[in-house]
Parts: sequence; C-alpha cells; structure tokens
Amino acid sequence: MEKILFLTHTDPDGALPRVAREVLGGAVQLSKDLGGAPLAVGLVGADVGAAADSVAGCGADAFLAVAGDDFGVSRYATDAAAAEALARKSEATLVVVPATSRFARAIPGVALRVEGRVDTHVTDVSVEDGKPQIERWYYRQRMVATLLREQRPWFILVDSGVFEPLEGVSGSASLESVPVDPPATRTQVVGIEAAAGEAQTIRPDAELLFVAGAGWTKKQADGQPHVPEAEQLILGFLEKSQASLGSSKSLVDQSGEGQTVLSFMSHMNQVGQTGSTPRHPKGLATCCHGEEPHVVGWRFIKERRAVNLDPGCGWAQGKADVLYVADAFEVMSNVNELLGQG
Ligand SMILES: Cc1cc2nc3c(=O)[nH]c(=O)nc-3n(C[C@H](O)[C@H](O)[C@H](O)COP(=O)(O)OP(=O)(O)OC[C@H]3O[C@@H](n4cnc5c(N)ncnc54)[C@H](O)[C@@H]3O)c2cc1C
Repeated sequence: MEKILFLTHTDPDGALPRVAREVLGGAVQLSKDLGGAPLAVGLVGADVGAAADSVAGCGADAFLAVAGDDFGVSRYATDAAAAEALARKSEATLVVVPATSRFARAIPGVALRVEGRVDTHVTDVSVEDGKPQIERWYYRQRMVATLLREQRPWFILVDSGVFEPLEGVSGSASLESVPVDPPATRTQVVGIEAAAGEAQTIRPDAELLFVAGAGWTKKQADGQPHVPEAEQLILGFLEKSQASLGSSKSLVDQSGEGQTVLSFMSHMNQVGQTGSTPRHPKGLATCCHGEEPHVVGWRFIKERRAVNLDPGCGWAQGKADVLYVADAFEVMSNVNELLGQG
C-alpha cells in the first residue's frame, strides 16, 4: 500500500500558500483513489500551528512539523534538511508537494538524498488500475505524457491551478514535531526585495489574464499611434479588474528596437513559446494576432477571448472561444467605463 506525504512550507505570515491548499486537495483525492492510502501532512516554517489548524479536518492521519526560526525562510540547506527529515519520518512512498519557487528549488535534491525520484511541473495526479500516475507536458506544452514510476519515494511537484483549493477543513490539529538540527549554512536571509514596478502587474492568482499585443503601439485608423492612450486604458483596466498582465513577444521586443513602448511592460510579461505559460481561468487578448508561438503559452487558460480588428487573425482559427472583431481602444474604453460604474 502506498503511503502519502503532503509536504509544504508556510508563508511568512504563517498561512498556507494558495497552491498548497490546491495540492492538498489533490493529495486527499489521491489517498481516496488509492483505496484510503494513509496520508500525512508535513509542514515547514517558523511557526506552523496556524497552518496545521487551517487544514486539520482534511482527513490526514498525522501532522508532522519542522518548525523554528531557522526554517521560516527560503534557503536551500534548511529547506532540504527539513523536507528530508519529514520524508524519512513519514516513510511515505509518494511525496506530493506544491511547486512554490521555494520547494521547486529544494525538493529535487531531497529526492536524491533519500534515493527517490522527482517529477516537476506535474499537471495532474490520478490512479489507473490501482497505480498512481502523473501528467506532465513537454516541448513547451505541445505534448502531454502520462507517467508511472516504480521507484519510491516518488516526489511529485504539482503546479498551481491544477486542483481546487481545499477549504472549510479547519479545526485543531495534533502536531508532531520532527527534530532536525539546522544544518551549517553560510546563507543568511536578510530580507526580501520586492519585485520592480512592472513585475507587479504579474498576478498568478488572478481570475483573468489580460494580454496586450503589438497592435496597441501601431498606427491606428487616423494614421497615428496612440501609445499614451493605450497605457491609460490598459492600466485603468488592470487596476479595476486586478487582472494579470501578459504580452506578446512583438510588444516587449520593441523596447530593444528603440521604439516607444508601454512603460510598464517587460519581458517578464511575455506569454508564449519563449515566454511563460500562466494559469488563469480566463484570458482576454487585445491587439494581439494570436500566432501559434504566442498561443502555445495559453495552454492552461480555460476560457479564451480576443479583440482584434482583423476577422482573419489567428484567434479566429480555432484558438479563441470568442473573437470580438472590434477596435480594442473602443472596447477597453467602454469596458473601463462599465467597471467604473460597478
Ligand atoms: C521561435 C519563436 C518563438 C516565439 N516565441 C514567442 C512567444 O513566446 N510569445 C509571443 O508572443 N510570440 C512569440 N513569437 C512571435 C510570434 O510568432 C508573433 O510574432 C508575435 O506573437 C506577434 O505579436 P503580436 O500579435 O502582438 O503582433 P502583430 O503580429 O503585429 O499583431 C498585432 C495585431 O494587433 C491588431 N490590432 C491593431 N490595432 C488594433 C486595434 N485598434 N484593435 C484591435 N486589434 C488591433 C492587428 O490586427 C494585429 O492582428 C515567437 C516566434 C518564434 C519564431
């Protein structure tokens, strides 16, 4: 019988990251699908009591903790030591972990230490013929594979947006402390430097991805570009909707070519084959042609809409659920007005 460890760290405020709640939902389901495989929750952080209580009723048989100031920060040496201790203590065969940047960095090394295997960027965990299996995408999200492994323990780093977050399971958890001597480390975490202004337009947890394409900076019907107006419309919409801002490659590349560009846009925003593959329930593309190298980055956007003047653009070729053949300046101006009234 498989034994499952759901392993996560807490946020600096002591709560669980959203992706942890999502992946715990997946681990609970996996335990059920494996005919009631034992499930333990392993927590790493400065003080993990509140996080444990917030998921006390999830159905886990045990709540294991490595806690203390040494384990409150993101640092490979301490994170790996804590995760290793929890993996060994639980004797888990399957270790299900949310792919936060912190644990995506630490877990592969832990898998090596305990002679296990690891898979990253997992997009589904299920059971077929009584055996656990995972789904993972390859070649910039163009091919999907289902994988099984014999080797145990099997560490499974699950991406965000795969499972619904587990809610309504708070209570009082009985925590078992797992002692770990903090390893010698030369790394001191002295603080966190917040991302630059433009990066704050990237909101992975947003309901909506709003993509701006190069059309926003092109000459419009009057023969002139309207970049300041474009900036105003896009920023106004982002502020009102709290959408996450994506871009096509053409738009962010323009800064390198010395053209006027939207000042808040950087390569961090680029979605696509050589950009990111964000996960949001909905996406709206504006002034973006919808070419394959861009749209491949929309793999995990569930509902897609686009605004383009060109009825023959890529979005019309089966890439969007809805294409509005319209002027994005007019559409977004009206949308902002409607949002302002709300
Ligand atoms: C190896 C490789 C990797 C690549 N990787 C990526 C990647 O990661 N991401 C990416 O995005 N691209 C990538 N590309 C480039 C991609 O093929 C396209 O060139 C790019 O996505 C085009 O950007 P765009 O649609 O914003 O610009 P354009 O193709 O210039 O399209 C602008 C659109 O705006 C519309 N428009 C103009 N004015 C308005 C208006 N007022 N209202 C509504 N619509 C309007 C036009 O009709 C047009 O369709 C890659 C290409 C290659 C070869």
